[in-house]
Amino acid sequence: MHICYIGIGSNLATPVQNAKIAIAALKKLPQSHFVSCSKLYCSKPMGPSDQPDYINAVAQLNTTLEPLALLDALQQIELQQGRVRKAERWGPRTLDLDLLLYGQELINNERLRVPHYGIKQREFVLYPLSEIAPNLVFPNGESLRHVLQSCPLNGLQVHSDI
Ligand code: ATP
Ligand code: MG
Ligand code: MG
Repeated sequence: MHICYIGIGSNLATPVQNAKIAIAALKKLPQSHFVSCSKLYCSKPMGPSDQPDYINAVAQLNTTLEPLALLDALQQIELQQGRVRKAERWGPRTLDLDLLLYGQELINNERLRVPHYGIKQREFVLYPLSEIAPNLVFPNGESLRHVLQSCPLNGLQVHSDI
């Protein structure tokens, strides 16, 4: 089994419900065991600020799916929940599922970069991640605790339990 962490984000339609439906869908993935999920957090949008705040969470999934098969499955869940891919980067979306970590593996191909490139700068990833994996160490040996020390909350708040 590979220990994976998935970042969940939504800021359109009904973000809390979108996140909950996404979590239910992750629980049904084949060859996988859903381990845990953080609380739901509320964060300020990254990039274009003329969009609603986000609901974010991070889930741990243990899986024997290969990385690209897992990415396919995540993108299928995004599409099922009505995500429309637009040209604008970081624009509003009904659901974003990012593969943050796949065990201790380093992956870099056309479709997939793991660890996710933004992980260490994003408060809405690091704080929920630390809730479910406080002792996590990144593949480069850096601890999550250490990275958190230089990551301001930037208005991040706990929204609610799942
Ligand atoms: P960001 O990646 O900065 O969080 P985003 O999540 O909005 O932005 P998407 O539109 O969801 O970006 O994804 C763009 C592409 O990123 C996807 O088609 C996918 O192939 C690629 N990608 C690369 N690495 C990853 C990863 N670790 N998790 C999810 N998608 C990834
Ligand atoms: Mg993203
Ligand atoms: Mg994404």
